[in-house]
Amino acid sequence: MVSCIPLPDVCETDLLNAVVAERQGGVNRNFFNEIHVEWTERVQAYVAERGNPQSVPTWPFVTTPRNSKKFLTLYNSPKPGAAQAEVLRQLRQKHGYQFCPSCGEAGNPDTLDHYLPKKKFPHFAVTVSNLTPMCGGCQRRKSDDVGDEANPKFFIHPYFDDFASDQLLQLEINPPFRTPTFGLQVCAGLPEATKGTVEQHVRRLELPKRYRGFFRNRYKRLLKQAQLCRDEGVPFRAFLMVTKAGHEADGKNTWDHIFFFSVLENEDLMTFLEDDELPPLM
Ligand SMILES: [Zn+2]
Repeated sequence: MVSCIPLPDVCETDLLNAVVAERQGGVNRNFFNEIHVEWTERVQAYVAERGNPQSVPTWPFVTTPRNSKKFLTLYNSPKPGAAQAEVLRQLRQKHGYQFCPSCGEAGNPDTLDHYLPKKKFPHFAVTVSNLTPMCGGCQRRKSDDVGDEANPKFFIHPYFDDFASDQLLQLEINPPFRTPTFGLQVCAGLPEATKGTVEQHVRRLELPKRYRGFFRNRYKRLLKQAQLCRDEGVPFRAFLMVTKAGHEADGKNTWDHIFFFSVLENEDLMTFLEDDELPPLM
């Protein structure tokens, strides 16, 4: 699940000016000169509105196939050494995250997502605030969606939605604890205005389905860890707390943190793990 991550330290206006300057010797010189001021204003408005699809309008003039291609080329096939090429490389390879900012799954998110999709918003194709590291699983599911009339904002913005650094989801682990069932809940206490977006985000990225196998696997491991702690005389609760704290360092919405947090919160389960007869190790 999402963690709020810092916006990369790149000046959007400088980047945009450099892109326009580099077009001065080319066939698209007039086009970029003509739109330069409005493009800048629209990128500035994106940042001011924190990428919110409800308040960032589309730009019909640039979404024609002929004009949108001029922006998409900047993203899809930048010439080596072009102003945006190095920025895109850094965003893809140098972010340093070992989890996906949109779902919290461990791994190196090596694709970039256009928060407002480049098909509908081609002028944000190389806007840094609109480009977030994302895993392939999230990218496939998010696709070109933004929102609809009933739910104007489907997805949490990893750079701008501050609430995403709080824990958003909790795992329910239901008895019988030898063969439990799992459920995923949006945490109580989220600000009312953000609940709809969180619920949409979770549903549209299919997080419950994606988490299921992971949690099952972690639970099997947890039973073994409980037995090993008993065998070795290691206090199990302290072991879990230390493990949870390690994962929390990556973010409260990483899958491992949600798992260990939810185990520690579940007193019935803790009693079972600490005191009851455990299933044989497999
Ligand atoms: Zn993801």
